[in-house]
Amino acid sequence: MRGLYVHIPFCDAICHYCDFVKHVSKGHDHNMRYLEALRKEILSYYQLYPHVDTIYIGGGTPTALSHDELIYLFESLTMYQPVEYTIEVNPESYDHQKGQLFKTYGINRVSLGVQTFHQKHLERLNRKHTNTMVFETIDSLKSLDIQNINVDLIYALEHQTVEDLHQDIDTIIKLDIPHVSAYSLIIEEKTFFSHQLKRNKFIQTDEDTEATMYDIVMDRFKEAGYEHYEISNYAKNNQTSLHNTLYWTLQDYIGVGLGAHGFIDKKRTYNHKAMSKYIIDPLKESVDQDETTLRNDHLLFLLRMTQGIDLNMVKSNYKHDIFELFPSLIQYIDDGLLIIENDHLKLTRRGLQLGNLVFMVFI
Ligand code: SF4
Repeated sequence: MRGLYVHIPFCDAICHYCDFVKHVSKGHDHNMRYLEALRKEILSYYQLYPHVDTIYIGGGTPTALSHDELIYLFESLTMYQPVEYTIEVNPESYDHQKGQLFKTYGINRVSLGVQTFHQKHLERLNRKHTNTMVFETIDSLKSLDIQNINVDLIYALEHQTVEDLHQDIDTIIKLDIPHVSAYSLIIEEKTFFSHQLKRNKFIQTDEDTEATMYDIVMDRFKEAGYEHYEISNYAKNNQTSLHNTLYWTLQDYIGVGLGAHGFIDKKRTYNHKAMSKYIIDPLKESVDQDETTLRNDHLLFLLRMTQGIDLNMVKSNYKHDIFELFPSLIQYIDDGLLIIENDHLKLTRRGLQLGNLVFMVFI
């Protein structure tokens, strides 16, 4: 299996928590210069890898592109016939005509940037959409028979109550959305919120409340029939994300676009983040991964998935028992963070809360 990630770095406004590679668009000519360089990069990889199983167009905000720009982008990808073809959508820059383009070009999955259904929290995050825009986007996608929809949800927002979170989850369940990615708000360096935090102008949710909220997210989606298949991801009717599962099972993916990274033929690739450099030559560096790094990455990613690590796979692939390779894992079993079930090593409920502690074993 092989995936292709395509990065569109333009946004109409910058969210206060965002540390992705993005900037406000400088207009059509600027967008087209980028899309032309992107097309060249896509074609250069296509010569080497003429088949991909998944495409994921992310950002930034892909729907910040105009109709004509989207057509240029989609035309750059028509040589591929992926089984899963995803695009990220922000409700404020979506319209039905863009949805029709998705349909025309074979896009069969949409990831919708919702984050919360509370206007006061959306405003605090500097998100520009309304609930009406979200509902209209979902109606439009469903009318085009694009049913495979993910909604991004953020919890542990400033001043968010447990009741607010319940209401957000209620709304997603009522909308009958098959996939949810739910993350707690992380304050990343160099974001607006991190500057505010340093000046005591931002109140961070305390750890206990954040843990309570994660419990609520896990319980509510499980009760509603979702499978909790990765630390932060939930799917109904087996509509798990094939593209993200490629990342978590250490399979190859090509990364194209500003600041994109990839993993291909046991090399990690890193593109330039500066537009002026990217346009001239996208690739900043390509780093060979040694066998130990590959093994450790593989095991760490597998542990993020709730099915865990197949212990027999470890023995046959890596010629050792996992506890010989990583004796400190035994302590985490004793501490109740890990459990062995059906020959799989998995995070327990408590381990899901404290995953980062366990993952340090592999770093
Ligand atoms: S829309 Fe997405 S990429 Fe753009 S600023 Fe907001 S979080 Fe970042």
